[in-house]
Amino acid sequence: MEKIILGASGVETSRIGLGTWAIGGWMWGGADEAESIAAIRRAVELGITLIDTAPVYGFGHSEEIVGKALCAGGLRGQVQIATKAGLNWADGKVFRDARPARIRREIEDSLRRLRTEAIDLYQIHWPDLETPIEETARTLGELRREGKIRAIGVSNHSPAQMDAFRAVTPLDTVQPPYNLFEREIERDVLPYAAEAGITVLSYGALCRGLLSGKVTAERVFEGDDLRRYDPKFKPDRRPRYLAAVAALQSLAQARYGKSVLELALRWVLDQGPTIALWGARRPDQLDPVGGVEGWSLDAAAKAEIDAILQACVDQPLAPVFMAPPERRPDGV
Ligand code: NAP
Repeated sequence: MEKIILGASGVETSRIGLGTWAIGGWMWGGADEAESIAAIRRAVELGITLIDTAPVYGFGHSEEIVGKALCAGGLRGQVQIATKAGLNWADGKVFRDARPARIRREIEDSLRRLRTEAIDLYQIHWPDLETPIEETARTLGELRREGKIRAIGVSNHSPAQMDAFRAVTPLDTVQPPYNLFEREIERDVLPYAAEAGITVLSYGALCRGLLSGKVTAERVFEGDDLRRYDPKFKPDRRPRYLAAVAALQSLAQARYGKSVLELALRWVLDQGPTIALWGARRPDQLDPVGGVEGWSLDAAAKAEIDAILQACVDQPLAPVFMAPPERRPDGV
């Protein structure tokens, strides 16, 4: 398994990380606990050492399942846990809150749920525009000095927001959306991170399953599954994305003997100082891990990929539908 050091932290992780949002159930139509635990254990067996979670994923549930799986399996020493802070919720509604007092409470809740003494990577989930970024950054610096966290990251932050953060506390990582269909960070965040020595944790590496090659035009998403309102999965756009997936599948097979899923993850890893976060909630979903390792896309294949994307999806959409609102007007 390929490895990478997170920024200047000295924390080493695998370049494929297990994403555990779906394991929290919330916004993914629910999750099965036994399957979730089996998926986490399978990830570790396959050499994935980075596990990304967040308090908001199931309002504590994802972190609890990660903690339970690692503790019962005696696996804590083999993995690096990445979790987040800076979102709050009331009556099932999520909003941004990266005030120091909120972060101080969140770190204690996360350590308890994750059954650990320290968190390997602690990230601000979304910028809270109503709290000075310097206050948030200062709090994370304190947590590191106190030994509660080892590396510091942000998610969904712009270069200007990272500049403000880094004026107070060094940043090791940034976590933006990044996959073959969502490439907005190539304009700013990716070059910024490469220049500043910041590791990029690319989320949605499979574009919420679209790049798995298993989504069909007929598949219906149930309950609170976010793909019910993801514009890419709507009937007016899904066929175009599926046409791109079919063309990418042919390319992957013809040139490399690979699947589109393997191609999509490899592509993320070939773009720079990146980690691909792969959301899985069943152990069998991780079976293709070995097929992502040990090869690289050449320039001609990358150009062919770009041509396919241009032909099928000429007006790409950023995943802005996922952004949570600012702090509630009542100041909660
Ligand atoms: P993703 O990795 O692009 O897609 C995950 C979904 O793809 C799975 O739930 C599964 O859906 C499907 N899938 C995975 N492996 C498959 C396989 N082998 N065959 C068929 N389908 C497969 O999306 P994501 O989970 O949203 O993103 C990854 C991680 O990034 C998250 O878990 C989270 O840790 C992180 N993230 C962070 C943010 C942020 O704001 N910082 C936002 C989004 C995500 P089904 O089980 O339904 O088939």
